Amino acid sequence: MSDDMFDLAIIGAGPAGFAAGIYAGRSGLRTVILEKQMAGGQVVISPLIENWPGEKEISGPDLSMKFREHARRYVEIREFSEVVSVTGKKPFIITTPEGEVKAKALIIATGAEHRKLGVPGEEALGGRGISYCATCDGFFFKGKDVMVIGGGSTALLYAIYLHNIDCNVKLVHRRDEFRGEKALQDQVRSLKIELVLNTKVEEFIGDEQLEGVRLRNVKNGEVSEMKVNGAFVAVGEIPMNEIARSLGIKLDSEGYIKVDRRMSTSVPGVFAAGDITGGLKQIIVAAGEGAIAGTSAFEYLMEPYWTENH
Ligand code: NAP
Repeated sequence: MSDDMFDLAIIGAGPAGFAAGIYAGRSGLRTVILEKQMAGGQVVISPLIENWPGEKEISGPDLSMKFREHARRYVEIREFSEVVSVTGKKPFIITTPEGEVKAKALIIATGAEHRKLGVPGEEALGGRGISYCATCDGFFFKGKDVMVIGGGSTALLYAIYLHNIDCNVKLVHRRDEFRGEKALQDQVRSLKIELVLNTKVEEFIGDEQLEGVRLRNVKNGEVSEMKVNGAFVAVGEIPMNEIARSLGIKLDSEGYIKVDRRMSTSVPGVFAAGDITGGLKQIIVAAGEGAIAGTSAFEYLMEPYWTENH
C-alpha cells in the first residue's frame, strides 16, 4: 500500500469527522482526515458549550482540542489540506494542493458555513468591524459598542459572550420571538442585554472601518442609524456541499446531503455525517452521526458483509 493509499478518507475535521475517525481507526481502517482549515469546525467559534454530556461548561476551542487529540491516537489528521476534487470510486482519488490521496471509502463531514445577510457594506467591511465569530474577534471590541444580528442559539450565545467581556451589546432580530434555546433566551434577559426586535439590517456604514448600521423596523417601516464599532452576524448556516455535488450525491431541497440510517449517501462507498446532513445541528448529533458513518465505512469495506446486509 502506498503512503497515500487509505482505507478511508474523511473530509472535514469537526465533531462528525473526529468521531468518524475514532470509530474507523479503532475498527482497524487506515484513515486520514483532510481539513481545509485548522481542525475543529464550527465548534471552535462557540464561546461556551453547556450541553456536551460530561462537561458542564467548556469553551468551543477547548472541546475541539480534546476531540483533535483523541482522534490523533487513531488517524492521521492533515490540516490546511483543502480537497480540490474527488474522482473515481473504490478507490476514490482525492486531490489536494499537496497531491493525491486514494481511499476505498469516503466520509463527507464538511459541515456548514456562515450565512451572510447580503446587504450593502457587508462585503467591504468584512473583517473591518463585521465578524461572524464572537470567540475569534470579540476580544478586539472589549469595552466598545457592538451589535449581534440574529435570533438563533448562536446569536444568543454571541450576545452573552460579548456582554461578559464588557462589550456594550445590542441584539438585533427581525422578529419579536427568538428561535434559540430557551435557557439562552433566559440568560440574555437576566443579563439585561438590550433587544432591538422586529428590526432588519439594511446597510453597514463606514469607509475603512464599520461606523454604524442602518436599520428598518419591519412593523412601522421606520429607518434609523445606530453607531457601533462591531457587528456580529449570526443568521444561520448554509451547507458546504461542493464535493457532494461534484460526486452527483443526492441533496435535499436546502442543499443538505440525503442519508439513510447508516449515513450512506446515494453514491456507494460515500457516507456523510454532521451538519452537512441537515437536521438538528448539535455537537452530540454530529458526533453520533460520525460514529455511525465510521462504523458503516468499516462494514462497507468488509464485503460481503455489507452486500448481505443491504
Ligand atoms: P438558526 O437557528 O438557523 O437561526 C438563524 C437566525 O437568523 C434566525 O433567528 C433567523 O431569523 C435569523 N435570520 C436568518 N436569515 C436572516 C436575515 N436575512 N436577516 C435577519 N435575520 C436572519 O442558526 P444558528 O443560530 O446559527 O444555529 C444553527 C444551528 O446550530 C441550529 O440548529 C441551532 O440549534 C444550533 N446551535 C445550537 C446551540 C446550542 O444548543 N447551545 C448553539 C449554537 C447553535 P428567524 O428566526 O426570523 O427565522
